[in-house]
Amino acid sequence: MAIVEMNSSPEQQPKMSPLIDSHAHLDFAEFDHDRAELFEKMKAQGITQVVIPGVSEDKWLNQLHIASTYNCAFALGVHPWFCDSMTEQTLPNLRQLLLSLHQQRKLVAIGECGLDKLHKSNFTTQLSVFRAHILLAQEFDLPLIIHCVKSHEEMLGLLKSAKNAKKGVIHGFYGGPELALRYVNLGYKLGIGGLLLNDSAKKLQQTVAQLPLSAFVLETDSPAMSPISSENDRNTPLILPLLLKKIASLQKKTNVLISEQLYFNATQLFDL
Ligand SMILES: [Zn+2]
Repeated sequence: MAIVEMNSSPEQQPKMSPLIDSHAHLDFAEFDHDRAELFEKMKAQGITQVVIPGVSEDKWLNQLHIASTYNCAFALGVHPWFCDSMTEQTLPNLRQLLLSLHQQRKLVAIGECGLDKLHKSNFTTQLSVFRAHILLAQEFDLPLIIHCVKSHEEMLGLLKSAKNAKKGVIHGFYGGPELALRYVNLGYKLGIGGLLLNDSAKKLQQTVAQLPLSAFVLETDSPAMSPISSENDRNTPLILPLLLKKIASLQKKTNVLISEQLYFNATQLFDL
């Protein structure tokens, strides 16, 4: 009954839902000098949750420390760029760490992991390491945070035969509607980041204009991918309101409605 009363009040302004950055490396050294200040600014802008993805074994412990200090959700995994620095123990260590943390609500995904043909030399290793991450996602019943560059056919092939129920997100998605739909039809979401603010990203803008809102989650990939040349090109979650506005204008819907759906998508995907 309370809901009916709230909605029926003519003075009630529709409220924006909180913003979630589904992919930000806030554990990186680029944030060491002003991390606490940044979290304060984020709070003031309604950015209430961040998922900090893992990238390599040597960074996991510091990442866990930062995530617990700032009460952030996190994922653990090996980024394809760092497959070369793995040892035989890296994957067993990852599994052990996941076993010790999987009761924690803040462990929300496996990753980031994936395939990247811009780093072609170790592509065979990348394939086997990514397969191992799919199995971990299955074992721990968590979604995958996937990095995929110039390897979409291989990726789609692997995801098609994978048995991980929670699926995941193709982070930093930059492709057109056709490719986007192939992922969405497999049950994956698309992480939309700062590239969308770049006027030359026409394919991505078409994707965001044409696909249903349920397909997207917001992300920044901070400190990388800065769409604004300020702060020495360091990217931060503070661009999320701009991203939200851009999605609203492409989808021809209100900011409030977009914020509601994106909040729902991220909380549902990561069980936040
Ligand atoms: Zn990343």
